[in-house]
Amino acid sequence: MNYFTPDITYAEYPGPQCYCGKRGCIERWISGVAFKEDYNRVTGEDLSTHDIVAAAEKGEAKAKAALDRYFDRFARSVAGVIDIIDPDVIVVGGGMSNVSALYTEVPKIWEKYIFSDTVDTKILPAKFGDSSGVRGAAWLWG
Ligand SMILES: [Zn+2]
Repeated sequence: MNYFTPDITYAEYPGPQCYCGKRGCIERWISGVAFKEDYNRVTGEDLSTHDIVAAAEKGEAKAKAALDRYFDRFARSVAGVIDIIDPDVIVVGGGMSNVSALYTEVPKIWEKYIFSDTVDTKILPAKFGDSSGVRGAAWLWG
Protein backbone atom coordinates (compact mmCIF):
# COMPACT_ATOMS: atom_id res chain seq x y z
CA MET A 1 0.00 0.00 0.00
CA ASN A 2 0.94 3.59 -0.50
CA TYR A 3 0.80 5.82 2.57
CA PHE A 4 1.32 9.45 3.35
CA THR A 5 0.72 8.69 7.04
CA PRO A 6 0.30 5.32 8.76
CA ASP A 7 -3.30 6.25 9.53
CA ILE A 8 -4.76 6.58 6.05
CA THR A 9 -3.73 5.44 2.58
CA TYR A 10 -3.90 7.52 -0.58
CA ALA A 11 -6.73 5.26 -1.73
CA GLU A 12 -8.66 5.89 1.51
CA TYR A 13 -8.14 9.66 1.51
CA PRO A 14 -10.05 11.74 2.53
CA GLY A 15 -12.11 9.06 4.28
CA PRO A 16 -15.79 8.84 5.14
CA GLN A 17 -17.58 11.87 6.53
CA CYS A 18 -17.60 11.74 10.35
CA TYR A 19 -20.33 12.84 12.78
CA CYS A 20 -17.87 15.40 14.16
CA GLY A 21 -17.69 17.31 10.86
CA LYS A 22 -14.25 16.06 9.82
CA ARG A 23 -13.43 13.17 7.50
CA GLY A 24 -11.65 9.87 8.01
CA CYS A 25 -11.76 9.76 11.83
CA ILE A 26 -10.93 6.38 13.38
CA GLU A 27 -14.58 6.04 14.40
CA ARG A 28 -15.45 6.03 10.69
CA TRP A 29 -13.04 3.15 10.00
CA ILE A 30 -13.10 0.69 12.90
CA SER A 31 -16.60 0.81 14.43
CA GLY A 32 -19.10 -1.89 13.51
CA VAL A 33 -21.17 0.65 11.56
CA ALA A 34 -18.05 1.80 9.69
CA PHE A 35 -17.27 -1.82 8.78
CA LYS A 36 -20.78 -2.30 7.38
CA GLU A 37 -20.58 0.99 5.44
CA ASP A 38 -17.15 0.11 4.02
CA TYR A 39 -18.56 -3.19 2.75
CA ASN A 40 -21.52 -1.35 1.21
CA ARG A 41 -19.27 1.27 -0.48
CA VAL A 42 -17.05 -1.39 -2.03
CA THR A 43 -19.64 -4.01 -2.99
CA GLY A 44 -22.88 -2.03 -3.36
CA GLU A 45 -24.51 -4.66 -1.11
CA ASP A 46 -26.32 -3.71 2.09
CA LEU A 47 -25.64 -6.52 4.57
CA SER A 48 -25.62 -6.33 8.38
CA THR A 49 -22.27 -6.30 10.15
CA HIS A 50 -23.11 -9.73 11.58
CA ASP A 51 -23.88 -11.19 8.14
CA ILE A 52 -20.67 -9.78 6.62
CA VAL A 53 -18.58 -11.28 9.43
CA ALA A 54 -20.41 -14.61 9.11
CA ALA A 55 -19.79 -14.65 5.34
CA ALA A 56 -16.11 -13.80 5.87
CA GLU A 57 -15.77 -16.66 8.36
CA LYS A 58 -17.18 -18.99 5.68
CA GLY A 59 -14.54 -17.69 3.25
CA GLU A 60 -16.74 -15.54 0.99
CA ALA A 61 -14.24 -13.38 -0.93
CA LYS A 62 -15.86 -9.90 -0.75
CA ALA A 63 -16.66 -10.28 2.96
CA LYS A 64 -13.20 -11.64 3.70
CA ALA A 65 -11.63 -8.69 1.83
CA ALA A 66 -13.76 -6.29 3.91
CA LEU A 67 -12.61 -7.96 7.12
CA ASP A 68 -8.98 -7.82 5.93
CA ARG A 69 -9.36 -4.06 5.29
CA TYR A 70 -10.93 -3.71 8.73
CA PHE A 71 -8.07 -5.57 10.46
CA ASP A 72 -5.46 -3.48 8.63
CA ARG A 73 -7.21 -0.24 9.57
CA PHE A 74 -7.56 -1.42 13.16
CA ALA A 75 -3.85 -2.29 13.30
CA ARG A 76 -2.89 1.12 11.88
CA SER A 77 -5.22 2.85 14.34
CA VAL A 78 -3.63 1.32 17.42
CA ALA A 79 -0.02 1.26 16.15
CA GLY A 80 0.53 4.91 17.07
CA VAL A 81 -0.96 4.33 20.52
CA ILE A 82 1.42 1.41 21.07
CA ASP A 83 4.37 3.49 19.80
CA ILE A 84 3.66 6.32 22.26
CA ILE A 85 2.11 4.68 25.32
CA ASP A 86 3.26 1.03 25.04
CA PRO A 87 0.17 -0.27 26.90
CA ASP A 88 0.13 -3.75 28.44
CA VAL A 89 -3.24 -4.40 26.86
CA ILE A 90 -5.71 -2.94 24.38
CA VAL A 91 -9.29 -3.87 25.31
CA VAL A 92 -11.85 -4.00 22.52
CA GLY A 93 -15.54 -3.40 23.20
CA GLY A 94 -18.64 -3.03 21.05
CA GLY A 95 -20.03 -5.40 18.46
CA MET A 96 -16.77 -5.92 16.58
CA SER A 97 -15.20 -7.28 19.79
CA ASN A 98 -17.13 -10.49 19.04
CA VAL A 99 -15.01 -11.13 15.92
CA SER A 100 -12.58 -13.71 17.30
CA ALA A 101 -10.13 -13.40 14.39
CA LEU A 102 -9.48 -9.79 15.42
CA TYR A 103 -7.36 -11.02 18.35
CA THR A 104 -5.12 -13.18 16.18
CA GLU A 105 -4.99 -11.19 12.94
CA VAL A 106 -4.49 -7.61 14.17
CA PRO A 107 -1.28 -8.41 16.13
CA LYS A 108 0.16 -10.05 12.99
CA ILE A 109 -0.54 -6.88 11.00
CA TRP A 110 0.37 -4.19 13.54
CA GLU A 111 4.00 -5.30 13.68
CA LYS A 112 4.63 -3.70 10.29
CA TYR A 113 3.21 -0.36 11.50
CA ILE A 114 4.80 -0.19 14.98
CA PHE A 115 8.21 1.44 15.22
CA SER A 116 9.63 -0.86 17.91
CA ASP A 117 11.03 -4.28 16.96
CA THR A 118 9.26 -5.91 19.89
CA VAL A 119 5.60 -5.54 20.83
CA ASP A 120 4.42 -6.83 24.20
CA THR A 121 0.94 -5.29 23.99
CA LYS A 122 -1.92 -7.78 24.13
CA ILE A 123 -5.32 -7.26 22.52
CA LEU A 124 -8.32 -8.68 24.39
CA PRO A 125 -12.12 -8.53 24.29
CA ALA A 126 -13.86 -6.45 26.95
CA LYS A 127 -14.81 -8.78 29.81
CA PHE A 128 -18.11 -7.08 30.59
CA GLY A 129 -19.29 -6.14 27.11
CA ASP A 130 -20.72 -2.67 26.61
CA SER A 131 -20.50 -1.73 30.31
CA SER A 132 -16.75 -2.39 30.44
CA GLY A 133 -15.76 1.23 29.81
CA VAL A 134 -17.82 2.48 32.74
CA ARG A 135 -16.55 -0.31 35.03
CA GLY A 136 -12.95 0.41 34.02
CA ALA A 137 -13.37 4.12 34.76
CA ALA A 138 -14.87 3.27 38.15
CA TRP A 139 -11.86 1.07 39.00
CA LEU A 140 -9.40 3.77 37.95
CA TRP A 141 -10.96 6.30 40.28
CA GLY A 142 -12.12 3.84 42.97
ZN1 LIG B 1 -14.74 12.65 13.66
